[in-house]
Amino acid sequence: EKFKNMNLKEELLRGIFAYGFEKPSAIQQRAIKPIMKGRDVIAQAQSGTGKTATFSISILQALDLTMRETQVLCLSPTRELAVQIQKVILALGDFMNVQCHACIGGTNLGEDIRKLDYGQHVVSGTPGRVYDMIRRRALRTRSVKMLVLDEADEMLNKGFKEQIYDVYRFLPPSTQVVLISATLPHEILEITSKFMTDPIRILV
Ligand code: AMP
Repeated sequence: EKFKNMNLKEELLRGIFAYGFEKPSAIQQRAIKPIMKGRDVIAQAQSGTGKTATFSISILQALDLTMRETQVLCLSPTRELAVQIQKVILALGDFMNVQCHACIGGTNLGEDIRKLDYGQHVVSGTPGRVYDMIRRRALRTRSVKMLVLDEADEMLNKGFKEQIYDVYRFLPPSTQVVLISATLPHEILEITSKFMTDPIRILV
């Protein structure tokens, strides 16, 4: 299977090749198509497998760029990872005019609010700050159609469980959920059973 045959948007395909990817990694081969079909996906994968590009490509494919509202929320355990994900999305989406904001703790609240107010297709953040922005009504969730939980086990280890549930309560009930985790302990399975419908499980 090649990127070219995956029915991706032309401008996204350009971004993928310009970024230097030639062919999809194993997780990309197996996860992108079901995510594109709208399925909830649990991917048991470590970093190094190409997991970030897996959901970044899926996110970019799902966006409707004719409306500048937040359509995808991506939660991750650290500020650095949230910024890294933002950079990958902006790089792969280089030909797409995509707005992607990193919503992380330790940054200026007013600037966060201003950037969200401007309109962001994708928000990549840590659970605490993202929930804070939702509560302040700075981050509007009515158009969210996909939630990505990256390194979900790490988020739980860092004590983000409550904030993840808090964020989820604000999302439309039909929101598609993609969860990436190196391990699948009980608390992760609890999240998958509460947030997901008939998920596909992929082990890489
Ligand atoms: P990750 O698993 O997201 O930490 O990614 C590990 C590394 O693999 C990163 O440096 C990516 O840029 C790289 N990578 C991801 N997908 C591909 C691909 N299809 N072809 C070549 N490199 C890739």
